[in-house]
Amino acid sequence: MTEIKYCEGCGATLQTTDPTKVGYIPPSALEKEHKICQRCFRIKNYNEVIPLQMDEDEFLEILHSIGNTDSFVVQIVDLFDIDGTLIAGLPRFIGKNPYILVANKIDLFPKSVNHQKIKHWLKKYVNEHGLYPEEIFLVSAEKNIGLLDVIRYLEREKGKRDVFVVGATNVGKSSFINRIISIIKGKHEHFALTTSRYPGTTLNVVRIPFIDGTDMIDTPGIVNHKRFSEWVDPKSLKAIIPNKTVKPKVYQLKGDQTLFWGGLARIDQVGETKNNFVCYLANAIPIHRTKRVNADEIYQKHLGELLQPPTLKEANQLPPLTKHSFRFTGRNKVDIVISGLGWVAVDGEPTTIDIYVPKGIGVHLREALI
Ligand code: GDP
Repeated sequence: MTEIKYCEGCGATLQTTDPTKVGYIPPSALEKEHKICQRCFRIKNYNEVIPLQMDEDEFLEILHSIGNTDSFVVQIVDLFDIDGTLIAGLPRFIGKNPYILVANKIDLFPKSVNHQKIKHWLKKYVNEHGLYPEEIFLVSAEKNIGLLDVIRYLEREKGKRDVFVVGATNVGKSSFINRIISIIKGKHEHFALTTSRYPGTTLNVVRIPFIDGTDMIDTPGIVNHKRFSEWVDPKSLKAIIPNKTVKPKVYQLKGDQTLFWGGLARIDQVGETKNNFVCYLANAIPIHRTKRVNADEIYQKHLGELLQPPTLKEANQLPPLTKHSFRFTGRNKVDIVISGLGWVAVDGEPTTIDIYVPKGIGVHLREALI
């Protein structure tokens, strides 16, 4: 029988098969005298947290365990996919612990958007979903926007509590933590990271020690299978996840027209009406406009070729399209959100809008965000 080995940093059982799971160590590093898992290695040497994933049950168990502690919780959501990344049940799990909402990727929004308005919208939206965070922050972990405000807030409010950071996969949780680490290292006397204690993974979480004796705790990201980003190959994921300020694409549709977002989504205006469709999605996804009567044929002929992403190979793996039908009343501008991909803002005359996406992908209506 082979001997079970443990990470000297965090105590996790070492394994060499799955880099996204706890205790991963590259096979070559197993030969070293002091064995530490890749996560501990990266945190210790590069101050860098690498993402960790787990399934829903395990994740909920971790959230529950927060409820038994006296801590402060930071929930991160992806502003470009709020609906797909908001953990609506959070208060049920974390008990009485206070939490803030950090909405990441504000850099993707057009410069002209009013941050106060977005914050206001977000507050209303999360309240409607039963969430009452102490504060809401709009940040960009990547472009270093708004993070100092979060740090100052935590310094002021967290007291002697550990800080748990929770969020779905791909919201930018690792980027956020890494950025926080690099900002506070050495600069904030009472609220800096210390290297005197070893970071560790206990209960499948990673503890990053602060100088005041408390920890910032990185929890694994929960996977939401209703998002596109969980379905496609890493290469196409690069095209799907916007990485630059999104340029809204405006279409004035004059009746019975279809917009294809690559081959990932089909948006039909049903009936002889006039409407504006403003598309917010990654700039790299091409939009094709066509008459609705031709849309079936075009999809069948050109999926994976003219209509890309997905690639032909991915197209074969995607589930068949299903239709989601919405009635637009013509009163207030609405967004139709396609989880993990973006949204289309609709205004104009009352009309019916049919959205076709691969089965399992979440689609829904909300009050317009922008
Ligand atoms: P995690 O799975 O939540 O830990 O997310 P990561 O930190 O690995 O980030 C997921 C993806 O989002 C990566 O492609 C990042 O480059 C991107 N990302 C993270 N933060 C930001 C941000 O502030 N703005 C933008 N545009 N992209 C971000």
